[in-house]
Amino acid sequence: MRPWDVPRLYRRAILIYVATIVAPACGLVWLGVQSFERQRQALAALTAEKLATEMEAVLRTAAERALVLHAHPVAKYFFTIEHGTVTRPPLYAPPPVPVPREFSEAERQELDGNRPDLALEGYRKLLAAHQHDSLALSRVARCLAKLGRQDEARAAWRTLAQSYPDERDPFHRPYGIVAAIESGDTADLYDQIAAGRWDLSADQAEYFLAQLDPRRTTPYLEQFRFARELSEQFRPQSALRESEIYSYSFGAWRIFYRVDAGDALSGFAVNQDWVNGNLKPQLQQALGISDTSGQDLRIYGGAIALVLVILSAGVALLLRDISREARTSRMRSDFVSSVSHELKTPITLIRLYSETLLRPDAFREQDRDGFYRIIMRESERLGRLVDRILTFSRVERGDQVYNFEEGDVAPVIARVVDDYREYLERAGFRLERTLPASAPPVRFDPTALSQAVVNLLDNAVKYSGESRKIAVRLGADNGCVTFEVEDHGLGIAAAEQERIFGRFYRVPNGSGRGGYGLGLFLVRHIMDAHGGRIDVESEPGRGSRFRLMFPRAVV
Ligand code: ADP
Repeated sequence: MRPWDVPRLYRRAILIYVATIVAPACGLVWLGVQSFERQRQALAALTAEKLATEMEAVLRTAAERALVLHAHPVAKYFFTIEHGTVTRPPLYAPPPVPVPREFSEAERQELDGNRPDLALEGYRKLLAAHQHDSLALSRVARCLAKLGRQDEARAAWRTLAQSYPDERDPFHRPYGIVAAIESGDTADLYDQIAAGRWDLSADQAEYFLAQLDPRRTTPYLEQFRFARELSEQFRPQSALRESEIYSYSFGAWRIFYRVDAGDALSGFAVNQDWVNGNLKPQLQQALGISDTSGQDLRIYGGAIALVLVILSAGVALLLRDISREARTSRMRSDFVSSVSHELKTPITLIRLYSETLLRPDAFREQDRDGFYRIIMRESERLGRLVDRILTFSRVERGDQVYNFEEGDVAPVIARVVDDYREYLERAGFRLERTLPASAPPVRFDPTALSQAVVNLLDNAVKYSGESRKIAVRLGADNGCVTFEVEDHGLGIAAAEQERIFGRFYRVPNGSGRGGYGLGLFLVRHIMDAHGGRIDVESEPGRGSRFRLMFPRAVV
């Protein structure tokens, strides 16, 4: 596989990653979930059984107490069943009791003879004789109403309601209710009935409450509704043992009951919702049962996910490194071919001209000097090239040593520029130099500085395109000594301006000039070693300006 075949490399790495890590991890998660589920079910069955036993015991204890005390927070709707019929709470009022005999005469006059006035006399006599006070008073009130004496009638009803609220008429209806309704004093009558002030039967309570406010329903009425359902549907177990408590599920209710003396049953209902909503959680807490399997599963899943994330991050890093390495290796191989190419040109020229010089008949005498100059120029170029490669290899190994000295960079730069000028001029360049005779002192390595300046000048020439103008400037600025090389050539796109300082980096499809991407890398290395920096300002098509900045030496 070629090292730069990165996409293929990625595909393989991802495949390997999925096959060796993701797939087994998913398998593990699946197995884990299965085993958690089995454990959860087993545990749930165990705890449910324990809870049910515990709950039954608690309920039974509560039931025993409730049946003794006839009141308990758990219990609702107490009942008694005799001969298969609910007797408590009573559903129907008993048949009316006959009116006492003393009332027959007055009643005859009132009802058959249609003489309320005479009847009134009779009832009043009974009242005066304190015979069945409440009944007599109610009859007096009824006759007064029939005679149209409404105010007197109302006063009589009111007295009756206030004096005999708990006595009942022949239909078992408390005067506290019937007389209050007749007199119109019903302000808190509804609430009193609904609170169970009188022990009414279902038909009575429903009748009165519906009369007072047909829209409302009350727990008091609901108790009768429950008793009715019970009466219709409840089938107690046969062969009941005395004093044993039985239980029975009845719709939303759980019923507890036992046999009393005779064959009467007494019991009460417990709301199942209350059992599940209150009692169960309380018991669960008391028994230390909590459903942690979901939590365990989350922790397990989370751990696997975390491992996967870490592994993925590792793989991503690895891939990044691999691709970087592949890129570097590609650059290295480009480098080798560029260097070989660069070496070949001067060597070819040197050989060509040396061979020519060895055959005196092959050239004219006046060309001799020119040939020598070419041989010299090319060997210098060769020397520079080799220098650069050697420096690079020292930098790579970390062996590059700089010999710093404090002094003036101006003469060093001037000498390099002068040496270069001839080459520039021969190539048709016009050099604009702004080089003062001296600059503020800096700590620098003259050889390294020369190399940096040459590299910048080399680039300016190489990337000048059609332009033949190069400027060099030395100056001082903000505590720095600066040296600039400016060309008006190809320029560098903004996105490339940082990359060009990387080793082996060459702008893709750049100028096509010889080069191997080391020049600027070395310049930056040199500037870093000097505690200074290099920056570039450039615009494609308009040229570039590279600037070296050396910190001034502290005097
Ligand atoms: P080389 O010149 O040997 O390719 P360098 O490290 O000197 O290597 O430069 C890196 C890249 O930066 C070059 O390939 C070129 O594309 C770009 N570059 C450098 N100097 C200039 C310049 N003065 N004008 C335009 N492009 C430049």
